[in-house]
Amino acid sequence: MPKIIQAVPVEDELHEILAAAGEVTVVPFGAERAEFLAAAAGAHGILLNPLIRVDEELLAAAPELKVVATTSVGYDAFDVDFLTAHGVALCNTPGVLNDAVADLTTAFMLMLSRGLMGFEAYNRSGAWGRRERQPALAHDPQGKTFGVIGFGRIGREVARRMNAFGMNVIWYDVFEDAPADAPPAERREMDDLLRESDFVSVHTDLNNSSRHVVGERELALMKPSAYLINTSRGPTVDQRALQRALEENRIAGAGLDVLEQEPPQADEPIVALPNVISFPHIGTATEETRYAMRKLACQNVAAVVGGEMPPAIVNPSVLG
Ligand code: NAD
Repeated sequence: MPKIIQAVPVEDELHEILAAAGEVTVVPFGAERAEFLAAAAGAHGILLNPLIRVDEELLAAAPELKVVATTSVGYDAFDVDFLTAHGVALCNTPGVLNDAVADLTTAFMLMLSRGLMGFEAYNRSGAWGRRERQPALAHDPQGKTFGVIGFGRIGREVARRMNAFGMNVIWYDVFEDAPADAPPAERREMDDLLRESDFVSVHTDLNNSSRHVVGERELALMKPSAYLINTSRGPTVDQRALQRALEENRIAGAGLDVLEQEPPQADEPIVALPNVISFPHIGTATEETRYAMRKLACQNVAAVVGGEMPPAIVNPSVLG
């Protein structure tokens, strides 16, 4: 019977997916490392939580490990080559969260273009009742240009939404040709996208090529009236360069779901800037989407320990 470690609390029916595939040991979220390693001894599959480090020490404790499954699509926290070299499958949760992240990106776009935070603060403070002067008029998204950096699953879902707003959608990715089912949008080289866009939205995965893909030089190419949106990973944007650009009004504003350090220092200056809207990494924070992510992660573990190809895997070569 394969041994499975469940380090994320899941619903009974999701636990059953794991229990049908092996003998499940539940380890509480936030357990001490020593407690986790002791429980993981001899494990074949692990449903991970974000606090667990997957390293030599863990593989030494569980030399027969076949699969580690994360409840996220991004896998920048893992050393894929290391896992592949040890024959351990790394599974993630692509697809089931595209809508949630694209919806949040849409919310940023509307909040920024329509100046909604300013109007909301005006009303909340009672300024309307006091007949104070309202914030300045904002802008329609229609007819504006929306630039997507990283035309992957989420980037394309974002493009679909922006098309519906009557925006002109352009994209940049490391590949030249969009998949056949991609929404209508034109490819641009990176610098042209930055120069043309009224909104620049980052949707790359975090890798060596995308770290600080938007930095001082890229920000300098953007229009002073343009907004930057980041719902990917904090380090895709050079946060201090962005902070300077925002403080000096070299761009109009930013919508940030992610920061270079998470959680940030309590006095992190960028979140307090008047032209920034930020959220605490809530791209997938809905009941439905988080459930779908947990379910897919359980299916991934069950499949691999059962000797099958899982629905989602980062390094399929390990399964031959
Ligand atoms: P994906 O792999 O389908 O798309 C990523 C795209 O970025 C790919 O097309 C890739 O070619 C492109 N890319 C990589 N490096 C690039 C570079 N240097 N320049 C231009 N393009 C580059 O991934 P996805 O499912 O769309 O997810 C994208 C990322 O979104 C995830 O890796 C994750 O980090 C992030 N994410 C954030 C949240 C959140 O809560 N805010 C939720 C889910 C995912």
